[in-house]
Amino acid sequence: MNGMTFRIGAIAGVPVHLSIWYFILMVFFVQDMGGPAEMVLFGIAMTVSLLTHEMGHAMVAKWQGLDPSVTLHGMGGHCTHLPASSDKRDAVLVAAGPGAGLVLGLSAGVILFVAGRAGASLPYLAETFLTYMLWIGVVWSIFNLLPIYPMDGGKLTRLALLRLFGADRGHKIAHISSLVFCAGGLALAIVSKQIFLGFIVAYFAYQNWQLLQAGSGVFGARPAPKGPDPQATAMLMEAEDALEDGDYKEAQRLAYVARSMPNNSDAMEAHAWEIVCIAAQRFGQPSECERLASRASQTPRLLESLILAALARGARDTALKLTENSNFNKLPAQRRQDLMARIG
Ligand SMILES: [Zn+2]
Repeated sequence: MNGMTFRIGAIAGVPVHLSIWYFILMVFFVQDMGGPAEMVLFGIAMTVSLLTHEMGHAMVAKWQGLDPSVTLHGMGGHCTHLPASSDKRDAVLVAAGPGAGLVLGLSAGVILFVAGRAGASLPYLAETFLTYMLWIGVVWSIFNLLPIYPMDGGKLTRLALLRLFGADRGHKIAHISSLVFCAGGLALAIVSKQIFLGFIVAYFAYQNWQLLQAGSGVFGARPAPKGPDPQATAMLMEAEDALEDGDYKEAQRLAYVARSMPNNSDAMEAHAWEIVCIAAQRFGQPSECERLASRASQTPRLLESLILAALARGARDTALKLTENSNFNKLPAQRRQDLMARIG
């Protein structure tokens, strides 16, 4: 539990959380659905559709070993996970959400179509439910694919622009074009008196504006201050404490947040990755540890984690080879003996 968000269970091993704000969103949408039966059906269809979308992201994230979790909240849903190891993998992960939503919505459409063609008349409630599923699946997926960051379409566009124009220009173009689309969305929301649409588009515009300012001096924005953020340094220290206390998830979370702050030195960056790797190995994600190790500070304790990670997947030869690394001799004698005994 975290404030207004509760863990309600897990789907396929992915933790699912529910914010009480989700009920407010649901009430907002179901209120003009006519009778109580329609309201309940719409609420269920909306929840199933949102969960399917987020689970689309989550299943790919899980398959990539990124420890996903899903939350339904006041603006829809969200899937949090560790960052993907490449842009290509990130793109697949992002596309999987609207992909899953579209498949679900269109499946409902196919059932309706086939029933219609066969001349079978579905019970009213079944037909109503399937119609809701079709519309929510299609509309929500298409809306999500609009090139507005941080929606899925905006994330995909941003990845493409970064690749096409490089980090700096790609970043600017992505957020400026998001702002242009936000302006269009806002105008549409005002004309059609869509409060919810107006609210989320305004929120997206604010986020893009912030990201643009954080980037570099477009629109006369102040350039980012030079030198590392003292908060990042403090967070890395907190992450170390969490690592020592055995709270590996928290250590990893803090290291990721610290790493995402601007102006980190290379040493801080490598330190953050080191914490992420060691934490991953200690909470039972050896492959995650090995995958990210090249970015981390090459310290004796990282080497120890790498040896244990190799042993965890039964790669005795890799573990043995790692003991030839000069950092191995910098480990305390007892640790070295223990490791050699484990390697056998
Ligand atoms: Zn999504």
